[in-house]
Amino acid sequence: MQIAVIGAGWSGCHVALELAGRGHRVLLIEREPDIFNGVSGSFGIRLHKGPYYPRSRSTREVCAATLERFCAHYPELVVGHEYAVYAHGTLDAIGHPSKVSNEVFAEVCHESPECRQIDPSAWGYTNLEAAYDLDEPSAVLGGRLRDYFRARLAAAGIEVRCNSQVLEAAESAGQFRLLLDGGEVVQVDRVINATGYQSLIPQIEAAAPETGLEVVYQVCLGLQYEDSRPGLKPISFIVMDGWFPCLMPQIDSHAQQSCNYVLTHGCYTILGSYATPAQAEALLASLDDAFVESRVRPLSEQQMCRFWSGFLPRFRYTGWKGVVLAKLKTRSEFRSSVVFEQAGIIHVFPGKITNVLQAGDEVLALLEGEVCVERDGLRYVKDGVLDTARHEIHSRPLVGEANTAGLQTHEMLRSTEHV
Ligand SMILES: Cc1cc2nc3c(=O)[nH]c(=O)nc-3n(C[C@H](O)[C@H](O)[C@H](O)COP(=O)(O)OP(=O)(O)OC[C@H]3O[C@@H](n4cnc5c(N)ncnc54)[C@H](O)[C@@H]3O)c2cc1C
Repeated sequence: MQIAVIGAGWSGCHVALELAGRGHRVLLIEREPDIFNGVSGSFGIRLHKGPYYPRSRSTREVCAATLERFCAHYPELVVGHEYAVYAHGTLDAIGHPSKVSNEVFAEVCHESPECRQIDPSAWGYTNLEAAYDLDEPSAVLGGRLRDYFRARLAAAGIEVRCNSQVLEAAESAGQFRLLLDGGEVVQVDRVINATGYQSLIPQIEAAAPETGLEVVYQVCLGLQYEDSRPGLKPISFIVMDGWFPCLMPQIDSHAQQSCNYVLTHGCYTILGSYATPAQAEALLASLDDAFVESRVRPLSEQQMCRFWSGFLPRFRYTGWKGVVLAKLKTRSEFRSSVVFEQAGIIHVFPGKITNVLQAGDEVLALLEGEVCVERDGLRYVKDGVLDTARHEIHSRPLVGEANTAGLQTHEMLRSTEHV
């Protein structure tokens, strides 16, 4: 078949390679001037084992099922750490206790057999209930990731068309007609929407309420730092579970030492939550250095220093980056990729980057007519993620319960600007 994959991030590039491997002719269409210029390329850093999702069993199960496969599939893109510390914080930025108990957090960390408990004070950490070191790697980003996929896509004979935005996709007589900006029309047999759920969005919330999918678009920032004492391998320090900070490496070159890091925070770097990508893009476009550096940065650094006072003496701020990310609104903060077909188009909802393996499998299963569930005009794989994680996908935060999907941090920071 001639298949168009729209969007050249992690989901689109992986799916394109899988389809080409099955002998399909693949056209990969990207609106940006290059591949990996959207969320992927900037974020998608940790190859999560589980403790980042202590309340979402489904996300941990998909991460566990895909991590090893991902490392075997893309070994050139996986970088091991000197250490990857997951810490259990006492109180978060607004004085709330962690959302999981000490026992649950310990259990979740020990789901990885090599996990070892460490003594927080011996490592220079404070305000923690406990901390664990895991063998959890990171993935590469930026130019290094782009170069790798350019070569793989070319070797697979995939036609990559950048600077082309798909405006519409319509089916007629078993074929799809794609309208590109500039007026060009492309005719293909099948379409995969891997736009990070930012374009050609199906109206499922109203049309297929049974699926329980409720989407929120968030403006997410990463504060960037340089490590003044880099080792040969990168490190990470992540406090859980609630409005806590997270430090991750940003490995975008083949340099021997990892100097670049990204700091995020459970609430301060998620600036707003919206019903449409356009609303979130508008907020992102309105942000400037002055706001980020006077409002977001001090709070995030202060919070990191509450747990690791050695952070600021060692890491120097170099700038920030921001993107819009689609997330599902769930009580457990479920974050796996979800794949379904509506009106003949297969949509890949973004999740963790290791999940591209499972998303690729589900795209192939839908194309090849494996056993599927058909409901409310949607088709999805039987025993796939949308089917097995139904309970979590349907769950919603309780009234008054803190959940990332409700964050309006920008408004909160603006309203307290002069306080
Ligand atoms: C702050 C932050 C931290 C994260 N940390 C992690 C982490 O540690 N580990 C992890 O696994 N994941 C992480 N993620 C999530 C992960 O980065 C994303 O889920 C993943 O990169 C999404 O990949 P994607 O290919 O589905 O979407 P994208 O990367 O968004 O790709 C979609 C592509 O489609 C293109 N496009 C959109 N519309 C059109 C159109 N109409 N025509 C043509 N092209 C179009 C876009 O330009 C883009 O290139 C993080 C995300 C954020 C924001």
